[in-house]
Amino acid sequence: MIDQRLAPQQTLAAEVRAAGVGLHLGQQTQVRLLPAEPEAGRYFVRTDLGPNLKSDSQSDVRADSADLLAEQRITADVGNVIKTQLSTELGVGNAQVRTVEHLLSALSAAAVDNVRIEIDGPELPLLDGSAQEWMAAIARSGISPQPVARKRRMAVTQPVTVQIEDAWVAAFPSSELRFTYGIDFALAAIGNQWHSWSAADSFETEIAPARTFGLAPQIDYLRAQGLIKGGSLENALVCGENGWINPPLRFANEPARHKLLDLIGDLSLLGDIPQAHYVAYKASHALHIKLAQQLAQSCPFLVSA
Ligand SMILES: [Zn+2]
Repeated sequence: MIDQRLAPQQTLAAEVRAAGVGLHLGQQTQVRLLPAEPEAGRYFVRTDLGPNLKSDSQSDVRADSADLLAEQRITADVGNVIKTQLSTELGVGNAQVRTVEHLLSALSAAAVDNVRIEIDGPELPLLDGSAQEWMAAIARSGISPQPVARKRRMAVTQPVTVQIEDAWVAAFPSSELRFTYGIDFALAAIGNQWHSWSAADSFETEIAPARTFGLAPQIDYLRAQGLIKGGSLENALVCGENGWINPPLRFANEPARHKLLDLIGDLSLLGDIPQAHYVAYKASHALHIKLAQQLAQSCPFLVSA
């Protein structure tokens, strides 16, 4: 087995693009994934907002022009999470980007450490509701090693648990990086289902194809809240009282696998996901992020010798 601490950082080999409608805001956006320098991490730039002009720039004529025109990078870091309602939203200053979890899950699973993600609007395209098209885009680009060692976090050495009522996420010490997810819904077609995946298995075939899902009885309520404006039968599985409205499923437990995909995307906001067995039950973005915040403290980056 490769000592991951000695593995090089990686970026994309070439620019790739994707475009589509965002799940919640329903806006069409274009995304460019570009190579980035070592140590840059995974970061977003809102190209529709322009440079980060200082409000007092008029009076400060001698200010450094490079500083005045500095672009606002939104680094995919757990410290930049501003909202977790049905998707994960990052923000720095007045720049926000929403529903980042599927792209970040793909980038993390494909071991792309450094990437510049340019987007011309506030929300990532949902594409087909899974991470499959993001994985295809990364494959089209190819991956390029960089002459700097990857930064690793300390492994989880004792259980860490976060809980809200009967929903929880835990990280247990483990000899491998593994994720196990359970969900439990009253709608019979979903019911109680679990999935477990080791990072040594294929993300591309086992997790990436699993699509976003929604419950038909909640759709009107969510729309009234100004959410899921871009959701459709083309980009989300919808479950009704009498079964799935738009079958076939890609896996019998596709919803559990999709939640696992979301969990990986949210934990990737740690930069490096600490080695552990993560077990989640009925959890949400809010709980995923709460666990990530705790791990950011308890599993610091290892200082290379
Ligand atoms: Zn999702």
